[in-house]
Amino acid sequence: LWTRCRATLRERVGTGSFQSWISPLRLASIEGGVATLTVPTAFLGSYVARNFQEAILAVLDEAGAPATRLIFTPQGRAIPQAATALAEAPAPAAHPEPAAAEETMRLDPRLTFDRFVVGKSNELAYAAARRIAEGNAVGFNPLFLHGGVGLGKTHLMQAIAHEMRARNPQARVLYLSAEQFMIRFVTALRDRKMMDFKQVFRAVDVLMVDDIQFIAGKDSTQEEFFHTFNALVDQGKQIVLTADRSPVEIAALEERVTSRLQSGLVVQVNPADYELRLGVLQSKVAVARAADPSLRIAEGVLDFLAARVTSNLRVLEGALTRLCAQASLVGREITLDLARDCLGDVLRASDRKVSVEEIQRKVAEHYHIRLADLIGPKRLRSFARPRQVAMYLAKTMTSRSLPDIGRRFGGRDHTTIIHGVRKIEELMGIDSQIADDLDLLRRALES
Ligand code: ADP
Ligand code: MG
Repeated sequence: LWTRCRATLRERVGTGSFQSWISPLRLASIEGGVATLTVPTAFLGSYVARNFQEAILAVLDEAGAPATRLIFTPQGRAIPQAATALAEAPAPAAHPEPAAAEETMRLDPRLTFDRFVVGKSNELAYAAARRIAEGNAVGFNPLFLHGGVGLGKTHLMQAIAHEMRARNPQARVLYLSAEQFMIRFVTALRDRKMMDFKQVFRAVDVLMVDDIQFIAGKDSTQEEFFHTFNALVDQGKQIVLTADRSPVEIAALEERVTSRLQSGLVVQVNPADYELRLGVLQSKVAVARAADPSLRIAEGVLDFLAARVTSNLRVLEGALTRLCAQASLVGREITLDLARDCLGDVLRASDRKVSVEEIQRKVAEHYHIRLADLIGPKRLRSFARPRQVAMYLAKTMTSRSLPDIGRRFGGRDHTTIIHGVRKIEELMGIDSQIADDLDLLRRALES
C-alpha cells in the first residue's frame, strides 16, 4: 500500500521534495482514521506535517485507506503491535549517518550526457558542464547554472556527477538539493553534530547543490553554506550550483554570498527553441522504441508537439509520455487526432501568451491610472506601487529577461526591475490587498 502511495506522491510533489521529505517516511499503521508514520527525526516530521499533510491524506484516500489525521513518530519509538502488519518494510535502523554522505540523493541513471540533446539555448551550459566533468575547468569555480524550470539544469548537473564518478570511482562527488543541505544542517545543529557535518562537507572532492535559491532568506543555512563553500574553494575543490535565477536575481541572498556565487562561471540555460524541442522528442522516442518496438507515431506528430508545447522540456516530455501510454493502452498508432484529444489541456495551457504591454494595460486599468504614468518616471506612491506590480507580473508571467523588461518600462535599468519584483514579493506575504490584486490581475491576464 505504502509503495503505491509513495509512487503517486513522488509524481505529485516532484522528485526533489520526495527524496528529501517523503522518502524517509514509513507507514506504520492506519487505525480509527489515524495514520501513523515513522520519521527519522522530529524535525522532518513537523516539516512534512506542515507541507505535505494534505497530499499524503489524499493519496491514502485514493489508495482505499482513508485517514483523517496523520501522526508522526520518530523512529525507534515503539509502534503498536497490530500496526506492524501494515508496514511494508522495516524502518531503517537509524537516520543515515553523515558518513554515508554520498548516498543522500541517488542520481537518476537516465540523466547522463549521452541523453542530453544540445541546442543553441543550452550549448554553453553543456560545454561548461563537460569541461568540469573532464576535470579541466581551471577557474570555473563555482559553475553556476541558472534558468527556468524544466530546461535541463538538474539533468546537466547529474550528468557531471555520473561522468566524474565513472572517470574516477574514488572521487567523492556529493550531489544534493539545497533543501537537503538545509535538513542536514538543521539536524546536525539539533543533534549537536556540527563537527560531523562540517567534516563531511569539507571532505568532498566535488560538491553539487541543486536549486540553491531555496536557501535564500534562510539565514543560518545560508551562513553555513557560505562557510562550506569558502572552505572547499580554498582547497581547490570543485563546486557546481544550479538555481532558477541568476545570483543577482536571488532575493534575500547576502551580498557577500552573491558575489562569491558570481566569482566563477555563471551560465544561463535558455528556453529551448523549436529545433531543440524536436530533438529532445526524437531522442525520447528512440529510447521508448528500444523498449517497445511496436510504438508507432504518425508523420507530423512530433513536429506538432514541438511547435505547440513550448513552455519547457519537462512539460514536453510529460506530454510525450502520456501520449505513448495512451497509445499503448488502446493499441494503436499515435496520430495527430489522438495527440489533440489526449493533450487538450497541455495545448491550451501553451496557447496563453501574455505580453508585457498587455500586463501594463491591465494593471493601469486596475489601479485607475494612465498607462503613461504607469510607465513614466513619476515616483508618486500611487504610480510606483502599480508599476512594481506590473514589473512583478512581467517577470513572472513572461519569459522576458530583466533588461528587456526594463526597456519596456521606459528604459529603466534591470536593477530597478529586480527591486520592484522583490518589493512585491515582500509585500505579498504581509499585505493582503496586494495579494488579492495580484490574484485578480493574474486571472484576468490568463483568461
Ligand atoms: P530543471 O532542473 O532545469 O528544472 P531538468 O533537468 O529536471 O530541468 O529537466 C526536465 C526534463 O527535461 C528532464 O526529464 C530532462 O531529462 C529533460 N531534458 C531537459 N533538457 C534536456 C536536453 N537538452 N536533452 C534531453 N532531455 C532534456
Ligand atoms: Mg532541477
